[in-house]
Amino acid sequence: MRNDSRELKLSEGGGSQLEWRVLEAVAAAGEAGILQKDIWRLLNIDSRKGSRIIKRLERMGLVAREEVVHRGRKMYLLKPTPKLKGMPKIPDELDRIPCFYCPLLISCGELTKILSCERMERWLLDSGSLEG
Ligand code: SF4
Repeated sequence: MRNDSRELKLSEGGGSQLEWRVLEAVAAAGEAGILQKDIWRLLNIDSRKGSRIIKRLERMGLVAREEVVHRGRKMYLLKPTPKLKGMPKIPDELDRIPCFYCPLLISCGELTKILSCERMERWLLDSGSLEG
């Protein structure tokens, strides 16, 4: 039997990027909220995968789901919880560092690997950090 009382954490690796993007969209919507179906369209994810993410974020207390009727159909409206509003925001510049979303992060600890990483090099070139 699953123990739901344990503390849930945001996923690691590639999965966390989608979770963060959902959280950003919900946080940006504020008290007006955003329809769940608009999140799927905005982030280009299918409803099955998206629903799993939302349920997980809801269990973590970051997103509140409200059933509403929109154009005659029942839908979910997503709103940020006080817990989400209280989370520190990662500055945009840091949010683009490729390591945050890299599936190899856990095994990538050696400086030689980092220095020879194509993703890192591309990010440094794109951000202008290697100029000058
Ligand atoms: S240095 Fe490259 S391989 Fe290592 S975690 Fe960052 S992006 Fe991934």
